[in-house]
Amino acid sequence: MIATQKKQLSKKLSESHTLGQPLSNSTCRRGQPPFIQLTLLFITLIVFFIYATFFNQPFFVFITIGMLGCLFYLVPLRYHLVMKGAEAQLQVQDCHERTNLTHSETHQEGEVIEAFRKKIVSYSKLKVLTEELSLCLTLDDTSKTLSSEANKLLGGRETTIILYLFHSKTGVLGISSSRKGQLRVNIKSKKGDLFDQWLVKSMQPLLVEDTKSDYRFDIDKIVTEDARGIRSLISAPLMVGNKALGILRIDSPKEDYFTTEDLRFLATIGDLGAVAIENAQLYERVEQLAIKDGLTHLYLRRYLMERMPKEMSRQLRCNSQMSFFMMDIDKFKRYNDTFGHMAGDIVLRTVGILLMDFFKQPGSLVCRYGGEEFAVMIPDCPKDKAVELAEKIRQKISKQTVLLRREKTQVTISVGIATFPKDAQMKEDLIHKADMALYKAKNEGRNRVCVA
Ligand code: GH3
Ligand code: MG
Ligand code: MG
Repeated sequence: MIATQKKQLSKKLSESHTLGQPLSNSTCRRGQPPFIQLTLLFITLIVFFIYATFFNQPFFVFITIGMLGCLFYLVPLRYHLVMKGAEAQLQVQDCHERTNLTHSETHQEGEVIEAFRKKIVSYSKLKVLTEELSLCLTLDDTSKTLSSEANKLLGGRETTIILYLFHSKTGVLGISSSRKGQLRVNIKSKKGDLFDQWLVKSMQPLLVEDTKSDYRFDIDKIVTEDARGIRSLISAPLMVGNKALGILRIDSPKEDYFTTEDLRFLATIGDLGAVAIENAQLYERVEQLAIKDGLTHLYLRRYLMERMPKEMSRQLRCNSQMSFFMMDIDKFKRYNDTFGHMAGDIVLRTVGILLMDFFKQPGSLVCRYGGEEFAVMIPDCPKDKAVELAEKIRQKISKQTVLLRREKTQVTISVGIATFPKDAQMKEDLIHKADMALYKAKNEGRNRVCVA
């Protein structure tokens, strides 16, 4: 650095000397000002010249030599001072450069610190989201929490967030949750619009800054598909490994509402959400396995026992009646012995489907009570209506044929009915009364309905 400065300095000096140019004013001021110096010298010389010529001639020679000596001393002194001045100027310039450099470094570091601060804020928000999601067990809860929290973090009052999930069996995309601000909203395009279709094909995060100028999408189609104005959006796929679970998207009626950073954040939220959704789906599947029978897909007796007291107290509050059916397939052992256990399973599944299709009233519950026995709980159903229903389903089952190796087979059922609160006030008593009625039906010749 010093060597470079010296080089620059001597170059500057040599330039000023060879071209006969004076150094800049500031440089001259830092050395002795040449005009004042020379004028003073000149006046002194004249004074001494007059004095020596007229009053003391030998002193003239002495003083001239002295003055010449001074001149010889002053010229290198001035050169030295000019050099020092220029050197100082270069140092000032250097200081300026260093100050600028320090300023820009401070500015850059400030930006880095700000970016870190934003990241810390984002991570703490994600931590809150993860905690919220970990508290959700059901798919419904998880969907609601994910969409409302994501809208809080990235959206605003006017933005709409939609969470689509692929149906576990059909694979069709469907809306699981949709919100505008923090309120639920109804979306017209239930299976997704062209932005969602783009995402289903690519399974890549999507940022549309302005729908009117984005060449990938036809703006006319967007307008016709959904009445609400969409000018910008971000959308991310919900993936767990290679498995696609759905799409999380936020759209805004304003253009340039979202940034690339927002999209990155949404993708991270989507990753967390996807894991939570998969857990909720697994939880629901396990729950279904615990309360439903694997062969007939009907509820198990345990679930019926849980539901019965709740339904009974509701019936009491509403001053209504609930009927309970106990059903049993007639001579099923013989059927198994004749056609085999596998055929018997097919019959059980067929009867299960018929019962599920038949008892569709809200609140009705069909369960596989055990072996070839079924139980049905029908709220708001007095005895006479229950007998009517039981007779219909009995006939329906007896007419149903099950084809086995080109042979048409049929089964019949016997039904026992008891009604709450007329026949019994406790669930165990109600079941017992229905059971007694069923035995009566069996004893009276089977394939019939008996009441308690
Ligand atoms: P009843 O008319 O008196 O009810 O005669 P039943 O033969 O139906 O009665 P029983 O209790 O003697 O026989 C019930 C039969 O149901 C015995 C068993 O083999 C059959 N069973 C129970 N569970 C299943 C099952 O899951 N699959 C099959 N295939 N058969 C079953
Ligand atoms: Mg039985
Ligand atoms: Mg039986």
